[in-house]
Amino acid sequence: MQLTYVLELLKPTKRKENIFFENIAEVVKNRQSIANKLKAGKTKLSSADFKEINLPSAVKNQNIREVKALYKRFLKSNSDKENLEFKDNQPICYNNQNYKIDNHIISIPLYTSKCQRFAFPVKETNRLKELQNHIKNSCKLGKASLFYKRGKWYFAVTIKIDNKKSTNSNVMGIDIGLRQLAVASIKTTKGKEINRQFYDGKEAGFIRKKYRSLRRKLGKSKKIKAIKNINDKEQRWMRDLNHKISKQLINLAVQEQVGTIIMENLENIRNTAQSLNKADRNLHSWTFYQLQQFIEYKAKLTGIKVEYINPKYTSQSCSKCGEVKKSNRKANLYSCVCGNNIHADLNASRNIANKY
Ligand SMILES: [Zn+2]
Repeated sequence: MQLTYVLELLKPTKRKENIFFENIAEVVKNRQSIANKLKAGKTKLSSADFKEINLPSAVKNQNIREVKALYKRFLKSNSDKENLEFKDNQPICYNNQNYKIDNHIISIPLYTSKCQRFAFPVKETNRLKELQNHIKNSCKLGKASLFYKRGKWYFAVTIKIDNKKSTNSNVMGIDIGLRQLAVASIKTTKGKEINRQFYDGKEAGFIRKKYRSLRRKLGKSKKIKAIKNINDKEQRWMRDLNHKISKQLINLAVQEQVGTIIMENLENIRNTAQSLNKADRNLHSWTFYQLQQFIEYKAKLTGIKVEYINPKYTSQSCSKCGEVKKSNRKANLYSCVCGNNIHADLNASRNIANKY
């Protein structure tokens, strides 16, 4: 499995920042000229074909690799455009031979009046520690890129991780929704539930309302930039929460010797969110999707398998006797004539685990 670690650089000096920007401008030129040569039918390219471009040859060679891959996709895409077009904000890419990570210092070649190696400190975060652990365990580093986003500089490093495989056999079903962001039910192979976990959606609902009313107020005065800032803030908040929930779920799964996690295919989520307006629904299917992605990603790191099931009837069926009856579910409660009276989302998560 390949992972990407995005490291934030400590604020570079103005001088170094200018060097970054100059190199990025050259990358844009370089990529465009590579694409033009590819379009003209010249496929054997090397850094020597781009003498006029002021970049280290390692970067030119990496550009050739990147653009060739992009060009292949471009040809397949049946685009109306004449050729690939590169925006001003291209990343500077390196293959694993050309950058180094030493503690929290990365070093990369850049072009000033000649090719020169520069060292930059990155912020010492948990992500960095995680990456260093992988490096210590002799995982193979892949390509890396330096890029600029909203006033900050980042260095993204990819690394190949050996696929682990859990030998545990317990199963965790996870139901994802609005009132309860996630409900997990863990059962043994014999079908006995051994643990469960709820993640209440109240706080998220409160935050959602807060931002919605802020947006409305601003909407009248058409402050588009401020609205965008609010949207970004809300998304960051949800992202952090999704990270927290997924982390706790995986910790629980490891503790309870879960070998497989079962979730629903996302289609159902759109239906359960029918009560919301369209914008909210889009936001929600997006955050639900993100939560599933985080769970899947963290599960794989620990060797836990993730399966998706068809969500049909998971909220209407009785997890005890199997009867399917829509009216059994009333808001938060699922009650069946067989005597099964439980939280509706727990009932759903049990069904999800049972479907596997
Ligand atoms: Zn029943």
